[in-house]
Amino acid sequence: MAVDTHVFRVSARLGLTTNAKTPLQTEQQLLKYIPEEKVHIAHHWLILHGRYICLARSPKCGECGLRKVCKYYQKLVKS
Ligand code: SF4
Repeated sequence: MAVDTHVFRVSARLGLTTNAKTPLQTEQQLLKYIPEEKVHIAHHWLILHGRYICLARSPKCGECGLRKVCKYYQKLVKS
């Protein structure tokens, strides 16, 4: 899976990756969870989510359907 800035950021925020420092580490962690036949579509989901909802500077958490499972959001709520 190609890991661009959106995939890197969204994966980390959601908690799909843990302490991944490089795109390669992100890819390796994601591939543990995502079945091979879903890798292509999951890649698109992550990119589109990062492009339109989970924006780098101001993620639209209020509009996001993944709030309940998002580690970044859970930390925000608790702090
Ligand atoms: S809840 Fe916020 S930080 Fe988490 S994936 Fe959604 S937009 Fe991103």
